[in-house]
Amino acid sequence: MNVLKFGGTSVANPENIQKTLSVVSKTAENSKLLVVVSAFGGVTDLLLNAADLAGKRDDSYRTIFQEIETRHINAVKELIPVANQSAVLSAVKTRLNRLETLFEGAFMLSELSPKTADLIAGHGELLSSFIIAETAKINGLNAAFKDSRELVITSNAYGKASVDFKETAKRVSNFVATNKAQVNILPGFVASTLDGNTTTLGRGGSDYTAAILASLVNATELQIWTDVSGMYTANPRVVKQAFPIAHISYREAMELSHFGAKVIYPPTIQPVLEKGIPIWIKNTFSPDDIGTLVTDKPNGKNRPVKGISHIENIALITLEGSGMIGIPGVSKRFLEVFYQKNTNVIMITQASSEQSICVGVDQADADAIEIAINEAFELEIMRKHIEPVQVEKDLAILALVGDRMKSHQGLSGKMFSSLGKNNVNIRAIAQGASEKNISAVIAKTDVKKGLNILHEEFFEDRLKQLNLFITGVGNVGGKLLEQIKQQQSYLNEKLRLNIRVIALSNSRTMVFDEKGLDLDNWEQLLANGEKADPEAFLKRTTELNIRNSIFVDNTATEFISRKYSDYLRNSIGVVTCNKIACADDYENYEDLQRLSRKYGGSFLYETNVGAGLPIIDTLNNLVASGDEVHKIQAVLSGSLNFVFNNFDENSSFHDVVKQAQEEGYTEPDPKIDLSGVDVARKILILARESGYQLELSDIENESFLPEESLNTKDNDSFFASLKTHASSFNDLLANAKKNNCRLKYVAQFEEGKASVGLQQIPEGHPFYNLEGSDNIVLFYTNRYSQQPLIIKGAGAGADVTASGIFADIIRIGKN
Ligand code: ADP
Ligand code: ASP
Ligand code: MG
Repeated sequence: MNVLKFGGTSVANPENIQKTLSVVSKTAENSKLLVVVSAFGGVTDLLLNAADLAGKRDDSYRTIFQEIETRHINAVKELIPVANQSAVLSAVKTRLNRLETLFEGAFMLSELSPKTADLIAGHGELLSSFIIAETAKINGLNAAFKDSRELVITSNAYGKASVDFKETAKRVSNFVATNKAQVNILPGFVASTLDGNTTTLGRGGSDYTAAILASLVNATELQIWTDVSGMYTANPRVVKQAFPIAHISYREAMELSHFGAKVIYPPTIQPVLEKGIPIWIKNTFSPDDIGTLVTDKPNGKNRPVKGISHIENIALITLEGSGMIGIPGVSKRFLEVFYQKNTNVIMITQASSEQSICVGVDQADADAIEIAINEAFELEIMRKHIEPVQVEKDLAILALVGDRMKSHQGLSGKMFSSLGKNNVNIRAIAQGASEKNISAVIAKTDVKKGLNILHEEFFEDRLKQLNLFITGVGNVGGKLLEQIKQQQSYLNEKLRLNIRVIALSNSRTMVFDEKGLDLDNWEQLLANGEKADPEAFLKRTTELNIRNSIFVDNTATEFISRKYSDYLRNSIGVVTCNKIACADDYENYEDLQRLSRKYGGSFLYETNVGAGLPIIDTLNNLVASGDEVHKIQAVLSGSLNFVFNNFDENSSFHDVVKQAQEEGYTEPDPKIDLSGVDVARKILILARESGYQLELSDIENESFLPEESLNTKDNDSFFASLKTHASSFNDLLANAKKNNCRLKYVAQFEEGKASVGLQQIPEGHPFYNLEGSDNIVLFYTNRYSQQPLIIKGAGAGADVTASGIFADIIRIGKN
């Protein structure tokens, strides 16, 4: 004999019921069956909700009752042919009438006792099982209805009665001995006391009904048919990458369900475990999927961590005080209160100092428990030996589960460090003595992020997801998006990185998509986005609270750079080509570095100097490996280089600058380049990265621009002034020519001092042949003292800058 159980979704409507019956009829070919069914999906909630309203004398229960009535009547009409309908309809209506009378009774009395609540709640299963049994007969199955209340006998603890196995066994064996039908269809969840009052087995309890029957009939298998293809590595509704676990042990399944994997009701395992009956978890809507097998000793690929589960709405109850140390019995008395109050203890932790003990419970139980504990320890609290109990709410538990965890070291370290890196604060930790689970209490708001972090860490074979929030989609940003799109499959395959763009903003609009924006269509999506607002962008990004989030700044705007600290404080990485932050007051620069270290979000800005050239990274590696920088000589302005390389007797200075701007070689405001400010910022950043505490004002900057050009207020007047002063630029050029030199804008740092300015560079000098927009940097260090370490290459342009930003993003991914 086999026992099959079908859950609420599997029998939610006539279409699903037919799917259920097709599974049943296939299985019935080979074996006699007991088929346990839940109420139509959602009906138990409706019943309890209506009962609650009626008990509070709120007549809106009637609307809910009507909904329940219509669903069942309609199901009969759809499932049973007209010729056979009347008998079934009248039986269903009789039951519905009784139900209505119960509601009316509760309404009249303004009272809902647990006993009445159970009787009402059980109607969902009583109705569904009857209708399904009648349909099965119509479909030609050799089927019968059997009321579980005649078989499953319980205590009178209404709401969550405990089973009298001895009496139940007797009745089940009598039933099996006399039963003729190939398929018996029974309601789950409901049971009865010895004197015939209806009880229930707790929410989700139909699984348990099936397990009890399976155990008592010594079933070959217990099959739990539900709406997912097995027990997953994490709740598939929260973790998209979760996958079904092929084979799992009873213990593991029990731990996972205890910690929230609702796919099996926790007490379900015990009765079948004792008999060694295998459980299959299967999907009614995809019956060919393999599903999950639960047995004593799983075989096959056996990871140390089998699954991750979570429970929301947890409250932590903490008892603390010096009076607890060394005094036996305090913990016992504390825990007894939970027992007396019939409160389920989900986890317990006790500090080894014995100064505190901390228990996780369902938040709904917290207030009552708080009062009860304060009463129980009234004396100690009065004498100040123990503090009044502390209650923290809105928490959740994440639990890693696996039989083989105990033989693997470092799992908890990995768990806590990966959560910590993503700013998920851990409030309490518990590890079962059997080391089959490690659980952590975190804020409820961090649940989704926490689960995904752990899933990535333990199950995704190092496929790491990076989530980008990009501001600035002009020249550089546009190229970056192009490069990301193009490299996606390469990064996936070779570096196991999955890069998703969650948000985009320009100065006009912004758009968010938690699942990742379609990069084939980003322009359109952005154009149709909401009004841009950097503050709102920050808020949304932090509220989404996604793991491995990176804020990417492709602008040159100061107010965007002012937000970095907020991102870093939320452990969100920052990648930027915007130099303003790093060239700001030293204190701010240092503060950003500190926030990055403290909260674990990377802060990378390789493109602040030399676009995509690996200058800052190289410098960081030199310094980190113990080298010391004495001197830096560099041509760092791709824009100025472009300008002076193209400026000759046949061109005008104005036109060359215009061309540089148009080709994307300058900052949006070209004066920032031409005045030398941009170069000064770069050498400042290199000096700071070399370990020197310099300010921008410490950098000598003798500008070659005439006063009037320097004082212009906008781009138009700046360009006009370049025309007015054409002769001064022509003179600079003629002078250099006369000395057989070329003009280069040079940045220099030596012995703690830095300067920038236009210089005449003679032939033979490493700077002389610098072409186009190339940059060059010479580092003189302890190790490179005679011959400098030279880095040279294209130092400006949207493409190389974008690739530098991309490289920073990948660097974070590989971290
Ligand atoms: P039924 O009504 O069939 O008893 P439930 O809703 O009680 O179904 O349980 C199935 C649901 O359990 C799934 O739809 C899923 O949302 C949830 N669930 C939570 N954790 C897990 C997990 N680890 N694996 C599979 N499902 C899970
Ligand atoms: N119908 C009951 C509930 O919703 C029992 C079950 O479906 O397992 O809790
Ligand atoms: Mg269930």
